[in-house]
Amino acid sequence: FGSTIELLLDDLNEAQREAVTAADGPTVVFAGPGSGKTTVLTRRVLYLLEKGTLPEQLMVVTFTRAAAKEMKERLAQIMPDKVNKMMIGTFHSLFLLMLREDFGRIPSFLSAVEQKEWIREWLAGKELPADDESISTYLNQIGLCKGNLIFPQNLNVQKKSNILFRDLYQAYEEKKKQFHYWDYDDILVATYRQLQNPHILAKWQERFKYILVDEFQDINRVQYDIIIQLSEKHRCLFVVGDDDQAIYGFRGSDPTYMYKLKKEFPELKQVILSINYRSTDEIIHLSDQLIRKNKKRQKKLRQGLGTKGASPEWLEPEDEEAESNQILSYLSDGVETAILYRTSTQARSMVDALIRKGIPFSVSSGEGSFYKRWQVQDILAYFRLAYQPNDLDSLVRIMNKPKRYLFNERWIDSCWDLARRSDRTLLDVLPEIPGLEHYQIRLLKEMRKMIMRLKEMTALEGVHLIRQEIGYDRFLEKFAEETGNDRLLVFEPAEELLLAAKYWTDGQALLLHTEKVESYMKKPHPKPQVHLMTFHKSKGLEFDRVFLIGLHAMFLPHRRSLQVPEHRKQDAWEEERRLLYVAITRAKSELYLSISKMRQGKKLSPSPFLKELGFKMPDKNMAADEIAVTHERNIVTVHQISQSQLKSQPQLRFVHEEVIPGMRLRHSKLGIGTVVKVTPLAGTVPGRKIQLRFENEVKTLHYELARQLR
Ligand code: ATP
Ligand code: MG
Repeated sequence: FGSTIELLLDDLNEAQREAVTAADGPTVVFAGPGSGKTTVLTRRVLYLLEKGTLPEQLMVVTFTRAAAKEMKERLAQIMPDKVNKMMIGTFHSLFLLMLREDFGRIPSFLSAVEQKEWIREWLAGKELPADDESISTYLNQIGLCKGNLIFPQNLNVQKKSNILFRDLYQAYEEKKKQFHYWDYDDILVATYRQLQNPHILAKWQERFKYILVDEFQDINRVQYDIIIQLSEKHRCLFVVGDDDQAIYGFRGSDPTYMYKLKKEFPELKQVILSINYRSTDEIIHLSDQLIRKNKKRQKKLRQGLGTKGASPEWLEPEDEEAESNQILSYLSDGVETAILYRTSTQARSMVDALIRKGIPFSVSSGEGSFYKRWQVQDILAYFRLAYQPNDLDSLVRIMNKPKRYLFNERWIDSCWDLARRSDRTLLDVLPEIPGLEHYQIRLLKEMRKMIMRLKEMTALEGVHLIRQEIGYDRFLEKFAEETGNDRLLVFEPAEELLLAAKYWTDGQALLLHTEKVESYMKKPHPKPQVHLMTFHKSKGLEFDRVFLIGLHAMFLPHRRSLQVPEHRKQDAWEEERRLLYVAITRAKSELYLSISKMRQGKKLSPSPFLKELGFKMPDKNMAADEIAVTHERNIVTVHQISQSQLKSQPQLRFVHEEVIPGMRLRHSKLGIGTVVKVTPLAGTVPGRKIQLRFENEVKTLHYELARQLR
């Protein structure tokens, strides 16, 4: 007996041992990445069991299901018979087990698809934009409310938009009740309410003598309240965490709960771990340099084991394709490697390259492939129609993208009918549906003709045709405008598809490839050497070699994360910095930070965080190729300008509307040129590209920045 405990403690340092063997009572272990927090938590479970605690008396909370699985596996190696009797899992899964015991039966869970469909219906009923982006935002907001125990009746509705949200939230809750459904966050709320019953609370307090929580910095209000209540009797709450790794603030998590524990439990024992066992000195040093810049944090001492390794390296490939190729060249030596990115679209090039090469890899679950993005699905639907002109789903999908004013769903029946009677395809008979206006017939005939042309083109030409001539970009423009979504982010998947399409001879080859990617991602791949995941998903994990890709300004801090009220900007900025910190600290011995010069054919600036990491930033004034157009004494001049110039010259007048092909413009550096092409629309849409022909060259210039100033 004694010797087993010896074994459990043998390889730990003094502070770790102190934590593992802490006497009964509340304990918090506070420490940076790689210092053994999760290790200590696991050992403590074993230690308690070894000391005679019954497995049923333990509740162990992990942040993800994957982490729970890993912990069970570790425990099963040592005490296989006890693992199944222990409560190990995420907050949601453990609370669900408790509710099942109390209630017997729990309502069914609303699937993510149904959830979205409900919101869509409600919004459509109010004639409000019901796109995927807005729906996700609303659902996120509902989750945020539940995490903070805010219900429709106690929402602050001073603003008009809040009234809309309250009504939606209320309708959603009522509909769930009516149909006996729950969503996943109802588990938290129901558990909280259930514990208001003193008998039930007493029962669970009695049962769970020891409660252990990993990644405590990402706990939210309702989870915190429940955990505190459950541990009030035995007071043996053991939590580990790191405020520098709190990255779920946008979901209502709040690392300050870690400091509040002292108020709940004045006798709280605190253990600080300061040795990092994971990474080389070079990696620790680099990550310190970054996190030091955050103002809201508790300073920690962090020292390495003194392992010297290679210096972290900057990779500066030309574009994303060069980036993928460069990374591929590292993969042949069998070293376990992670490729991490801020958003999943950024993995597209890497995934395609791995699939083409046949190198096995894993992608963290829930991410879905790039080809599932709705913009991509829309464009692919056009291709699919070219090859399967009877594909109704595709036809319905693209019918009003751009608007062709065919809204009444009855056209589907007429279309089927006509096709069947005349033995032709749906696409073919479309313009013959009864009751169409002249202009609609013209639109549909044009659409049909263009879709047929897709078969004679390369995939790249096809994407261009769909976006420009068929007018899909027009739909995206309108969509961004009407929903108030960030234009750049709305267009991003469509831009990425242009790059992806380059490889394929025709639309059919592209479609085949997308199916291959889909089915690859759905299958589990046991123990591959290469792991792809977002920064968020990498939390708690470690890899010998880590690549961080796509470290551009637009992604880090991510544009969307900064779309918050002014007083929350600083916090949002710091959370993005922590996210990069989490990603960097996953590396054990090799770290590569990759920042391609171009992305989606455009020059992009490096993330501002890179400067803090010692990256030599390129000269801003040279990098920009955004332009502004001004009138001076009746001569139209195009200026190549940088961000800082834009800020200092608010008096520039922007006259987008007047730029049309054939017009002669003077470029401030390149001289006089003729406008060859304005995409996507002549004249009116900001954010477009203009192609200018000069004496010796044709140059494409962008409008993005000019728009922001208007
Ligand atoms: P994170 O904050 O990233 O979740 P963590 O603090 O949970 O990190 P662990 O994952 O528990 O850290 O440990 C990091 C690595 O260090 C693991 O590989 C672990 O096996 C190793 N390790 C922890 N403690 C020791 C020790 N005393 N001796 C040797 N290796 C150790
Ligand atoms: Mg950990």
